[in-house]
Amino acid sequence: MIVIFTDHIVAAKRAVDPSVHSGQGHSLAVCAELSKWFSGDPERSIEFVQVLSKLGWHIHLAAHDYVHDTPAVSGRRLETFLDSVCQAVAKSCVDSWISEFQHTSYWGKHFLQMGDMRDQPLKPSVLKGGTWLSFTATESLATMARMARCILGHAPLGKYHTWFNINGEIQCRCGTFIETRAHLFGRWAFTMHGKTDSPRRLGELMDFLWANPRMFAFEAPSEGIG
Ligand SMILES: [Zn+2]
Repeated sequence: MIVIFTDHIVAAKRAVDPSVHSGQGHSLAVCAELSKWFSGDPERSIEFVQVLSKLGWHIHLAAHDYVHDTPAVSGRRLETFLDSVCQAVAKSCVDSWISEFQHTSYWGKHFLQMGDMRDQPLKPSVLKGGTWLSFTATESLATMARMARCILGHAPLGKYHTWFNINGEIQCRCGTFIETRAHLFGRWAFTMHGKTDSPRRLGELMDFLWANPRMFAFEAPSEGIG
């Protein structure tokens, strides 16, 4: 029987955990040695005992100081462990997503392109909910939905009705033959912005949505649960 006294029980658990985590290579080496040792006799066992360093138990303190002064052991070929492989695969997916996103054929001709603070086109990301949705994390679901419909062009507009052959108004209220997203932006720019005919940044789009709370919202049905 082996008894291990440690002031870091989490590290001890990790040392005998073969699943994916950083330092997995060290854990696999420990597990391989232990499984050889366990197979020698079914009576063999290991116990871990947590010892608080602040108690200053002299044997434990001496062992602690000895290990502390020993240089860290680095694993061999760390890049081949599953943790590193998972990170490399995730990075490769995001890189190819960003690369694809540079082509109009990928994002579609109805997608509303906007820029970042340096006027570079927004790039897709998987961090914090993604490039677009992270911007609306504190907004209501209804506002988030209106933003998504506007950016994708899937909104109750005359253009959308003709595109999908849906019964509904095609003309704008001002008399323009087909109501498009750009036309609505143009009307807003004329009365509120005066400079541009479509939002260049997500913040400008949100200003537009707040100023026009029914814009890109579907009408609620007159009856039923929907
Ligand atoms: Zn109009």
